[in-house]
Amino acid sequence: MPLPRDLTDKRVLVVGLGKSGLGAARLALRHDAREVIAFDDRGIDALDAEAVRALVEQGARLACGPHGFDSATEIFRSVDLVVVSPGFPLARPEFTVARQAGAKVVGEVEFASWFLNHDALVIGISGTNGKSTVTALTGALCAASGAATFTGGNLGAVLSDALVDGQRFDFAVLELSSFQLEGIDALHPQIACLTNLTPDHIDRYADHAAYGAAKKRLFRNQTEADFGVVNAGDAGVLKLIEGESCQRFTFGFGQSEEAAARFDDGTIVVRIDRSVEATGRSSRRHDSLGAEFEERYQLTNRNLRGPHNAENAMAAILCARLAGVDAASVQRGLDAYPGLHHRLESVGTIDGVEFINDSKATNVDSTAVALKSFERGVWLIAGGQGKGLPYRPLVEIALGRVAGVLTIGEDAPLIEAAFRGVVPVVSCGDLETATRMALNQAHAGDVVLLSPACASYDQFKNFEARGDTFRALVQRLSGERDEARDGH
Ligand code: ADP
Repeated sequence: MPLPRDLTDKRVLVVGLGKSGLGAARLALRHDAREVIAFDDRGIDALDAEAVRALVEQGARLACGPHGFDSATEIFRSVDLVVVSPGFPLARPEFTVARQAGAKVVGEVEFASWFLNHDALVIGISGTNGKSTVTALTGALCAASGAATFTGGNLGAVLSDALVDGQRFDFAVLELSSFQLEGIDALHPQIACLTNLTPDHIDRYADHAAYGAAKKRLFRNQTEADFGVVNAGDAGVLKLIEGESCQRFTFGFGQSEEAAARFDDGTIVVRIDRSVEATGRSSRRHDSLGAEFEERYQLTNRNLRGPHNAENAMAAILCARLAGVDAASVQRGLDAYPGLHHRLESVGTIDGVEFINDSKATNVDSTAVALKSFERGVWLIAGGQGKGLPYRPLVEIALGRVAGVLTIGEDAPLIEAAFRGVVPVVSCGDLETATRMALNQAHAGDVVLLSPACASYDQFKNFEARGDTFRALVQRLSGERDEARDGH
């Protein structure tokens, strides 16, 4: 099926003028679309005014405003192509109107992928948790080989933006949220990775099956020549990939001796049958797989702490090796991986006490994962706007690991009630008090872990602002300690 790359006779409506939509509009202009209409149902004040102005200067027509979708029905009826930003559910009636009037309705990543160079190898990564980490790490492993690599999608960079200047890539490593997968049509990842599947986004999907169906779209354009990389320990994932055309490679702990990647005492062991040909298509990627039947990778990078990150590393290594990245580059990339902000991010050490920013942990599951990454001496800072789920599952994991819990925000009383009598609990109210208190109580070798198990909105703009505040606090405390020492 030829990609609809020729936009010269197309009226293109871009819905949503955040980062993705702005990029898509620029890309449509760059490809000389007959008309580009930039739409957002927020007023211009809520948008990046300068970027929007630049778009209009380049020829886009702006349709923004308080009446939003209600006043835009005619536009939806009159365009040829609707490019939707990830924040907008594709089930909106306006998109049905557009489809019924003959328009194609796609997500931003789908649209951008039409303009990728033909020989770019697409690695698509999805799952409930670990998407960003596996994407960033896979991108880092590919880039370590010197290949021109795009890493982004749902996280970080926007594919449309990267393609505006006609850049070519050997690899496009794309994080695909289920929202983005809904907007996929022709996008064809030669390698598709599904990390795990747990009930999530219940507010948006009727049930777990519908959420799974969105994830299944990751594999829908794959053929027998393509690869699926999936979690051996996740029954939901294995069931979901049943009947798909791709060749399957699994990773994981436990009963996974048959897995293509498994964990063995600090080492990741990869076994890929010699007959498998790496899917690499450019001359750069001629490294044959399975030259050795078994390969071992050392996982010593402290930015990949914890069993969950070992899983993420296994997934990323498989993706990179199946893409034809050589083993030495994979090890180099693993060792140099800088980690992502707000996910078990080390933000400083004061008098032997390490401070870890895990502000991305906005639910109980994520905090559980974080706690399992440490054996002992953890001072846990938790609390904020809760999600209505019990905190008790954390208590068992905390036993032996957590030296004390310091609570902040709205849900502090519930967290205190869960932990009381099991580990020492201190009610701190806010992050600064908690961080100071933790430093005062901790001993060298301990860890102060901000992993709130709650959303941040009661006290911060978002989880990033909460993590940034924590990082700044640690810097300040470090400075104060230095000054106090100098003063003596
Ligand atoms: P996503 O992009 O899917 O949200 P991230 O890589 O940003 O994933 O990680 C978000 C959080 O999910 C982490 O802070 C951690 O708590 C949890 N997590 C990461 N990887 C895994 C995994 N493999 N299994 C379970 N939980 C994970």
